[in-house]
Amino acid sequence: MAKMKKAEVKPFKELLLNLRARLRGDVSTLANSALSSGGSGGSGSSSVPSHMADMGSDTFEQDNTILLMNSEGETLTAVEGALERIEEGVYGSCLECSGKIPKTRLKAIPYTPHCVKCASELEDGNY
Ligand SMILES: [Zn+2]
Repeated sequence: MAKMKKAEVKPFKELLLNLRARLRGDVSTLANSALSSGGSGGSGSSSVPSHMADMGSDTFEQDNTILLMNSEGETLTAVEGALERIEEGVYGSCLECSGKIPKTRLKAIPYTPHCVKCASELEDGNY
């Protein structure tokens, strides 16, 4: 079975932890960026300290910013599974054929459990 080195897995683990936090609504990084980019163009205002933005974030802000809303639960499950595979040292291997999942695919969909071939055979469009 093809295994990835820890150093190779690390950036994906960070991606997945970030994604999981966002899906759970633990952090407001998306809300923060939405707040700063959606401003009314006022001049000279210094950036808002993150802890203040945290306190001011509302749930409807997150509704607007999380684009994965439709399959949020599904995606969260997939992210959890990917993190488990990282802990088990099997991340990056296809669950179906045990083949190596290309890094380009992992970069696009870090929580995918399948290689491109198996994903298309399973007709699992999302991952
Ligand atoms: Zn496969």
